[in-house]
Order: sequence, then C-alpha cells, then structure tokens
Amino acid sequence: MGTPDTHAWCFDHGRAHTFKGGKEPWCGAAWVAFAATSAEEALTAKQAAYGDAQFLHQLSAADQLDVIKIRGTRSEAPAQQQT
Ligand SMILES: [Zn+2]
Repeated sequence: MGTPDTHAWCFDHGRAHTFKGGKEPWCGAAWVAFAATSAEEALTAKQAAYGDAQFLHQLSAADQLDVIKIRGTRSEAPAQQQT
C-alpha cells in the first residue's frame, strides 16, 4: 500500500490535484490538502470548507490568508509529511 496519495485543491490552477504518495508534490502553487482517501471526498471537503470558490480571488479575505499561510508553512518545511 505505501504512503497514501494526497488529495488537494489548488487555488492557482483552479482545480483538484492528486499527489502520489511519498512523492514530492509537482505543484508549488497555493493548494490545500484534505484528509481524504479519494478525489471525490476531497472535493466534498473543499466544498464544505471553501464553497464554490475555484481560484484564490474568489475566497474571502480570511480564507485567502489561510491558504497563503498553509502554502507558506509548506515551503518552509517541504520534508514534513505525516506517515
Ligand atoms: Zn496547482
């Protein structure tokens, strides 16, 4: 089985991303990962958290800050991954 895939929503590309387990994410933009086991589940989680927003500018100011903060955390510690 190995490391599970990471399901995320990317607010730069405006679409869902799936990162293969254990691999470096191929997108360095503003994406948010969800605790989901499938792309459908991630989409539901994204809908619940961010509604219909597809791109960063469609989010509320608070949510934009959140997403940018999450991205910042990631670039400071790229090797940090839950196992
Ligand atoms: Zn992306």
